Amino acid sequence: MTLKFYNTLSRRLEEFRPIVPGKVGLYTCGPTVYNYAHIGNFRCYAFEDILKRTLLFLGYEVKHVMNLTDVDDKTIRGSQEAGLKLNDFTAKFKQAFFADIAVLRLLPADIYPAATEHIGEMIKIVKVLFDRGIAYQAEDRSVYFSIAKWPQYGQLVNIDREQMRSGVRVKLDEYTKDSAADFALWKAWDEADGEVYWDSPWGRGRPGWHLECSAMSSKYLGATFDMHCGGIDNIFPHHEDEIAQSEAANGCKFVNYWLHCAHLVVDGQKMSKSLGNFYTLHDILDKGYSGREVRWVLIGTHYRQSLNFSFQALEDARASLQRIDAFRTRLQENLANPAGDSGQVEEITSKTLDDFAAALSDDLNISAAFAALFEFIREMNRLLDSGCTGSNAARLALDCLEKLDRVLAVCTPDPGEGVPPEITALAEERQAARKSKDYARADALRKEIESQGWLVEDTPKGPRVIRK
Ligand code: AMP
Ligand code: ZN
Repeated sequence: MTLKFYNTLSRRLEEFRPIVPGKVGLYTCGPTVYNYAHIGNFRCYAFEDILKRTLLFLGYEVKHVMNLTDVDDKTIRGSQEAGLKLNDFTAKFKQAFFADIAVLRLLPADIYPAATEHIGEMIKIVKVLFDRGIAYQAEDRSVYFSIAKWPQYGQLVNIDREQMRSGVRVKLDEYTKDSAADFALWKAWDEADGEVYWDSPWGRGRPGWHLECSAMSSKYLGATFDMHCGGIDNIFPHHEDEIAQSEAANGCKFVNYWLHCAHLVVDGQKMSKSLGNFYTLHDILDKGYSGREVRWVLIGTHYRQSLNFSFQALEDARASLQRIDAFRTRLQENLANPAGDSGQVEEITSKTLDDFAAALSDDLNISAAFAALFEFIREMNRLLDSGCTGSNAARLALDCLEKLDRVLAVCTPDPGEGVPPEITALAEERQAARKSKDYARADALRKEIESQGWLVEDTPKGPRVIRK
């Protein structure tokens, strides 16, 4: 089986060959921590999660780095409006981000470097570019990358070189392909920056956004590494500029595979803070949906297709997940039966796992991967209906489901998910009774909960209510 990805750099499907066989260096552009991330952002992080989990599923070792942009125009403005120091302001949104990714079952990165902690590394890159005559300081005291000095500029997107306005400068972090120009590496301090600045050989200032990803990716993954991801809006200028700075400074290829996901859209428009058409994860959880239902929606569309967000999609997710839960419960119930024959189940599970791996290896074909899961459920239900109910068969099938879920991470409910409020209240009352050592009352409450179809399990993390 060949593992293939669509590489934005070559604009075609390519066989994936990591620099060191079996190991992958993965860099994903992280959040700007000036606000809560919206579910459009999480679409991107969910795609990266499926990518990473697929690599792990296929046996690769992955070193994953995700940066936290904790200094830029937006974070500075936000901290000023909140009357807080920059770090105190961004700390809150870093924490919120980590809480959200746990709810969405996104595997944490190995390293989360923050821009403000890597200013020295960024200055070093600018110095090299300066010494090579590729960077220059302009009258506004900011330092710019000269695209005229770097003929390779425009690898990810085709840029009309005739249109390139060398010597014209952009200080903004975001601009369009039509306005490709010399971009800021180091932004000279001005009054709007308040007390946010660092000293450098070019005077007080702060780094440009693109520079941080060049500095932090090479620090943790090396000057050349395997994979770099983000949303398609990152292709230009962010990733183009990262390539230019890194390759001009290090003298070697920056990244071998670039993967970008299409946008999450609402009514045909990209979900974004600036358009105001966004939902944070908590907006959706507050409407009664669970983290895994949101995850289901975010991962369900192939990453290179736009994902049209709707509440109907969340309703559909609920129905599909109930089907999976019912299947898992049915298998668990069979674990208590006598062993029995499991020959056919072995065949089914091994075909399922092969199909699943083949689907994901084909540029993360998630629809085919889900088709393998649903075909598995159908086949197993058929066998169970025809009396194949032994514990061996159930164990094999549960094991297969657990393997598929290493990538999908949707096949087990969240603690408390779907538990009616009155049952949660009884469980809390029972816990209070136990705490005050009123065991007779605690026992009576447990029985009451059981009589309504639920079980209380006492786990090291506290009591958990599950369907009986
Ligand atoms: P930002 O905080 O705006 O830099 O975005 C963080 C990540 O989310 C980037 O990789 C963006 O490409 C991605 N992103 C932003 N909006 C969307 C969207 N509507 N759909 C998918 N990805 C998005
Ligand atoms: Zn980046």
